[in-house]
Amino acid sequence: MTNTASVDEQIQAIASGAGTGETCSPSLAKGPWEFDREAPSYGPGASLGDVIPVGSPRQGALPEEYKTASNEELHARIRTAKETLGNRVVILGHFYQRDEIVQHADYLGDSFQLANAAKAHPEAEAIVFCGVHFMAETADILSGENQSVILPNLAAGCSMADMADIDSVEQCWAELSAIYGTEPDADGRVPIIPVTYMNSAADLKAFCGRNGGIVCTSSNAEVVLRWAFERGQRVLFFPDQHLGRNTAKAMGISVDDMPLWHGRKPLGGNTESDLLDAKVVLWNGFCSVHKRFTVDQIDKARVDFPGVRVIVHPECPMPVVDAADEYGSTDYIRRAIENATEPSTFAIGTEINMVQRLATQFPEHHIFCLDPVICPCSTMYRIHPGYLAWVLERLVAGEVVNQISVDASVATEAKVALERMLAAKPA
Ligand code: SF4
Repeated sequence: MTNTASVDEQIQAIASGAGTGETCSPSLAKGPWEFDREAPSYGPGASLGDVIPVGSPRQGALPEEYKTASNEELHARIRTAKETLGNRVVILGHFYQRDEIVQHADYLGDSFQLANAAKAHPEAEAIVFCGVHFMAETADILSGENQSVILPNLAAGCSMADMADIDSVEQCWAELSAIYGTEPDADGRVPIIPVTYMNSAADLKAFCGRNGGIVCTSSNAEVVLRWAFERGQRVLFFPDQHLGRNTAKAMGISVDDMPLWHGRKPLGGNTESDLLDAKVVLWNGFCSVHKRFTVDQIDKARVDFPGVRVIVHPECPMPVVDAADEYGSTDYIRRAIENATEPSTFAIGTEINMVQRLATQFPEHHIFCLDPVICPCSTMYRIHPGYLAWVLERLVAGEVVNQISVDASVATEAKVALERMLAAKPA
């Protein structure tokens, strides 16, 4: 039987001892303001291997009234503020947000669908992006000049996006350019094209814009790689090694031709000959949420539920993607379930809030997360109704707080790479 409690309700129950099950951190049950003002961190539930960069945005103090209000009071205040603001505000919610936020969103989607939703509302003075920092940056780049993009909690970053910074990527680019040179081949293809995943900072998108490169999402990565190989002999793919490897492998590229680049090691820890043979140079980044999925979990699901359909996200490691029946973006996963004509059992390898929501929305199917431990994306989880109520009520009072504003020169170059992605179509 499907558990219809939200992820937060389940975590609260486990932390209080009233519920069964396991969470990766009972501290998730506390309000994120308990952690936001300490040294910058990804918060409870984050992988201990993730090191937050110096200078990461920090959230200032949240007024006490929002910390002590009950969920019911916060929901009522959010609804009232939203009604007062009318079409002056649009609220965007990522698939990985908690239900307590999603219920107030005008749009629910992946990062690119939401950036497009922002673009589609030029009448809104403010776009409240309930997601993480790089998403709000992209919305700011694609939205109108007079619109403000607001991230309710500035501490909501992304550990994967933080794994590639502009200095390390510039250094890598200089080393690769020294090996490959700059001359095109007989077909006019340049030695290397940079491709950044949407999950990256705006300055990395700008880097791609000024170096003949492009942005990709998990739903168009193959189309984008084909675009890149029409123009270049090789690709530098960052920051997610798994999306790069899984996509290139599906296109027939040997994993032997995909060396891993470790930032800060000479030649990224590779030999010159490895790099000369490379088709895709993969940055050593990963998503801590999708790294939790394992082949053992898939094997267990197949034993427990013969006939189970296993679908995982391409941010999962390659052995997990290989062991699954299918893989695809969050939107692919949602559509696969929506289009299933017979009641089925689905084991899903992506963030728990989305899986739990799908399970509630499609009670005719048995849908469960491959990872039995409740461990949401720790940074997505920093967006709490208390923060949403605060930013909306400040807007009602005429004040824009937590605005995400990308420097104009960075935005111009990043937009070039984003527009190349929009123009890239399947062959
Ligand atoms: S799920 Fe992974 S890639 Fe997505 S925001 Fe969280 S840490 Fe970043």
